[in-house]
Amino acid sequence: MTSAGRFAPSPSGELHVGNLRTAILAWLFARSTGRRFLMRVEDLDRARAGADAEQLRDLAAIGITWDGDVVRQTDRGTLYTEAIGGLTAAGLTYECFCTRREIQEAPSAPHAPQGAYPGTCRELSAAEREAKRAVRPAAVRLRSAVTEATVHDVLHGSYTGVVDDFVLRRNDGVTAYNLAVVVDDAAQGIDQVVRGDDLLPPRPGRPTSPRC
Ligand code: GLU
Repeated sequence: MTSAGRFAPSPSGELHVGNLRTAILAWLFARSTGRRFLMRVEDLDRARAGADAEQLRDLAAIGITWDGDVVRQTDRGTLYTEAIGGLTAAGLTYECFCTRREIQEAPSAPHAPQGAYPGTCRELSAAEREAKRAVRPAAVRLRSAVTEATVHDVLHGSYTGVVDDFVLRRNDGVTAYNLAVVVDDAAQGIDQVVRGDDLLPPRPGRPTSPRC
């Protein structure tokens, strides 16, 4: 599979100037490095009826071109189910019954920011899981093998961030974005990601940009 870059808007409303800036940069980076450029609508949640058509029309209007058909995450449920099944078969997932509030209020693990998952449900016994299932449906979390990971960004250099046992499938059955984006990027041969820098910590001297 040839390498590719992508733009992956969430169809929650009109694209703003930050989205358009990211789309142009992603397109330029891909095209100027001989990559395919793919368009993926990330519509697992936050979708507003008609917004994807408006977004694609606006992208085409500023000259963005993409290869092949537009891919929609809501058409790819089988791939996500298979990925979670593979991780579960390898013992790398567990059921989590915590509410958002319980996670916010729990003491966080050392060096983890408030809100990072503290591992409450990681070692529940079969009997405890059974009892909790009767009260609340479970989300599925990754049993992460690492507590941090480093990425190398062409513009910002090396960045190391905390990795917690993040959610793979929400307790309403919807695949989590964290899982879907990785499955899709791998399946589509994406090896170049251009996005807004909202996930980086603020640094003196670095201008902030709108979320893209
Ligand atoms: N669908 C995501 C968004 O619009 C894409 C972000 C990304 O490329 O990482 O926020």
